[in-house]
Amino acid sequence: MRIPLFIAIVLVLSFSPASAHFFPNISSIPPSLLKPNNTAWDAFHKLLGCHAGQKVDGLAKIKKYFYNFGYISSLSNFTDDFDDALESALKTYQQNFNLNTTGVLDAPTIQHLIRPRCGNPDVVNGTSTMNSGKPPAGSQNIHTVAHFSFFPGRPRWPESKTDLTYAFLPQNGLTDNIKSVFSRAFDRWSEVTPLTFTETASFQSADIKIGFFAGDHNDGEPFDGPMGTLAHAFSPPGGHFHLDGDENWVIDGVPIVERDFFSILSAVDLESVAVHEIGHLLGLGHSSVEDSIMFPSLAAGTRRVELANDDIQGVQVLYGSNPNFTGPNTVLTPTQENDTNGAPKFGSLLVHVVVAFFLSFVHLI
Ligand SMILES: [Zn+2]
Ligand SMILES: [Zn+2]
Repeated sequence: MRIPLFIAIVLVLSFSPASAHFFPNISSIPPSLLKPNNTAWDAFHKLLGCHAGQKVDGLAKIKKYFYNFGYISSLSNFTDDFDDALESALKTYQQNFNLNTTGVLDAPTIQHLIRPRCGNPDVVNGTSTMNSGKPPAGSQNIHTVAHFSFFPGRPRWPESKTDLTYAFLPQNGLTDNIKSVFSRAFDRWSEVTPLTFTETASFQSADIKIGFFAGDHNDGEPFDGPMGTLAHAFSPPGGHFHLDGDENWVIDGVPIVERDFFSILSAVDLESVAVHEIGHLLGLGHSSVEDSIMFPSLAAGTRRVELANDDIQGVQVLYGSNPNFTGPNTVLTPTQENDTNGAPKFGSLLVHVVVAFFLSFVHLI
């Protein structure tokens, strides 16, 4: 994630694309791909209620998880001890996700940890990008401010480039039905900005390059098979949008919450992920507004494709409003912006199904 952009581009182009797994709806996913793993849920129970001073198998993996999202700054000596660093990370996480800042791995926190989520760090260089304007923990001063955020340095597409082109990796052989999912996702952002998005057949010259890959495709953020990392996208003007071809992508646009619990854990609504990642492609970071597109996590089985006011306000700070947009157009400025000079511009943004993280480490215990 910290490698230079030009190297990433060269390496990505040299790798083989995945033949992605698409399903018109969740019912069409083979049962063999929807098997629950009860061992993983046993692991959840082992961690439930953990607090400072304890030593419990699996806490080292929790620390690694928090490291991946910026809550712990150094990757070293991850033990199963619930130490001060873990408690501090946990409290910041709880604040970002609008949870009670107990510092304990309580049930609401575990429920958030197992949610599918974007892998883009919530904390960059020690500064949280999510909780702008949020009152300090324990404060009763609840006030309404903007929560959207940007990448460090606030990169955006240049003013001269309002008609962005996008293309699909030819080797993926995507059907028109699948491509239309992305078209709908782009439309949601063009409705509120002066930007337009036009598909082009030329992958190499497209502003936004969409491709499904499997495993390590050499941009520093390998995909990890089913239920792991789902997708990532670059900040402007990177334009690279990669999705994990090993996921069970559902494309029918129908909410999948009515299905059984383990089934929905294995299925991902493609349009929901696309709308979120396009937000990153345009320059938005994460928001702590739970119903916003740019909120980092997505409850299992959830379809979330409608832009919230927070998303609209954020993208309009960067690009202004679509003249035909009649919705809320009050532009707010985030009260806190991570604007660190010299920060990497390569914004690798990953969507994780965190359950996979548990599934993977259970095998190591
Ligand atoms: Zn994200
Ligand atoms: Zn990638």
